[in-house]
Amino acid sequence: MSQEPPRDFIRDIIQTDLESGKHAEIVTRFPPEPNGYLHMGHVMSICLNFGVAAETGGRTFLRYDDTNPGKEDEEFVRAIERDVRWLGFDWQSRLTHASDYFEALYDAAVLLIENGLAYVDSLSAEDIRRYRGTLTEAGTDSPYRQRSVAENLDLFRRMRAGEFADGEHVLRAKIDMASPNMNLRDPTLYRIRHIDHQRTGDDWCIYPMYDFAHTLSDAYEGITHSLCTLEFEDHRPLYDWLLDQVEPEGRPRQIEFSRLNVAYSVTSKRKLKALIDQGIVSGWDDPRMPTIAGMRRRGYPPAALRDFVQRAGVTKKDKLIEMGMLENSVREALGDGAPRRMGVLRPLKVVLTNYPAEQTETVTAMNHPNRPEMGQREVPFSRELWIERDDFMEDAPRKFFRLKPGGEVRLRSAYIIQCDEVVKDADGNVVELHCSYDESTRSGSANSDRKVKGTIHWVSASHAVDAEVRLYDRLFREANPNAVDDFTSVLNENSLETLAAKLEPALADAGDEPVQFERLGYFVKDQDSTADRAVFNRVVSLRDSWAKLEKQALG
Ligand code: ATP
Ligand code: MG
Repeated sequence: MSQEPPRDFIRDIIQTDLESGKHAEIVTRFPPEPNGYLHMGHVMSICLNFGVAAETGGRTFLRYDDTNPGKEDEEFVRAIERDVRWLGFDWQSRLTHASDYFEALYDAAVLLIENGLAYVDSLSAEDIRRYRGTLTEAGTDSPYRQRSVAENLDLFRRMRAGEFADGEHVLRAKIDMASPNMNLRDPTLYRIRHIDHQRTGDDWCIYPMYDFAHTLSDAYEGITHSLCTLEFEDHRPLYDWLLDQVEPEGRPRQIEFSRLNVAYSVTSKRKLKALIDQGIVSGWDDPRMPTIAGMRRRGYPPAALRDFVQRAGVTKKDKLIEMGMLENSVREALGDGAPRRMGVLRPLKVVLTNYPAEQTETVTAMNHPNRPEMGQREVPFSRELWIERDDFMEDAPRKFFRLKPGGEVRLRSAYIIQCDEVVKDADGNVVELHCSYDESTRSGSANSDRKVKGTIHWVSASHAVDAEVRLYDRLFREANPNAVDDFTSVLNENSLETLAAKLEPALADAGDEPVQFERLGYFVKDQDSTADRAVFNRVVSLRDSWAKLEKQALG
């Protein structure tokens, strides 16, 4: 984990503003629209907004940008709160909604009309678009732009009263139809929508546009630094114009930073929703999804996500961050604290021909090879065992130190065995190995230091717990699926592999914390587990597990 407090251009600005006395206290907000689950991009925004406030003894609002009734949902609201808390942040009493300010926003619109700075336009949506001009051509004034204040006030009041149908009128700011910045060409402030709102019900049939609601909500909450992503850079002149006209005192400052993009992944709610709607993933919390809910279910600790976005950093440059960097943060956050267990993902039967058929014993295994304080456990051992199919090779190269015909290997915490016979089916597939064990080599016994070069994990067949194990890979084949026209055309078809695994009995009572399956990675019990059948997700594989093990085995 990186221990250094983060530093970036936004934190530099904030520090300057505190030192100069411009602000005594920093106030930020995280403003999600509740139209989907939060994703990795939001993690960056959450960590930044809550982070800079926490580091300076300031405050942060969690504010729902709920100006789009019909697309927003109570399920998303609950998920957002759960996800922000889980990430480790607390808004305390500062949970707000743009809709809390609907009345104040209406009054602000009336003020703009009274000051001749807003007007009711009755052009059709299409005409408004046509009159707007292009990047190279100035717009044209609407014929309704010169309506009197009295007429505008009357029409706006009647818009609110529900006298008009959707689209009949809009309220627009009166700024400059020739501005080189399209956002200043008389932007729409209010539109008519006869649709119930999840919080205000049928109180309103006119709803404020995002720029209007967002800017003034910032002002009402006393936000000092309004941190948003770069696509809002062109909106900043409008942000400042609105503040100048309506709330010129103690104004917030908008600062933009670049979006976080993770390679082989998408971070757009719309695209994530498409993956769900097309049945490509099982839901918002599918462990392959870059949503907070998905990553939590996958077993990523919150500290790993915080560490990852800190390493990615807050900048003005577009970037595509490697997935491997996220996985490294996950490994580091899981640390070396996860208890070790044995599980066989692709089982191959081993019969110890010289071990008594009815006999069972237990061997003692450390819960962590370097941490005796984590204790040990008893693992049943018997005549029939499962080992990893990959740990046997019939035509093995010289440097293959696991099991091969005539070769020896140590079973972790148990005995050295030798492979005497390879049993095959009619098609020539290896179905079973007949081995013999050397009774004198039991781990911990006098002769336990007899050296062989390989050590492998195993599970006693008659004691094994059956489990479904899910291995995950990246969702896309292309590093930047956003750059492809149809992002669903570059899916990785093998992003989920489901295995019927055999686990040591201790894993039947695995809790919610990740464990390390020796040599295979970190795994965590999935919510799909039932009383009869455990389901485990692989959180992340072990880095260089082979290299490390072969080195250990070579002593
Ligand atoms: P999406 O495209 O997924 O819908 P959004 O920006 O529309 O994203 P909001 O709910 O409006 O989603 O975003 C809430 C906050 O999170 C905003 O301040 C937004 O700028 C920020 N945010 C969203 N995506 C990213 C990202 N990829 N990187 C950094 N911040 C982001
Ligand atoms: Mg949005």
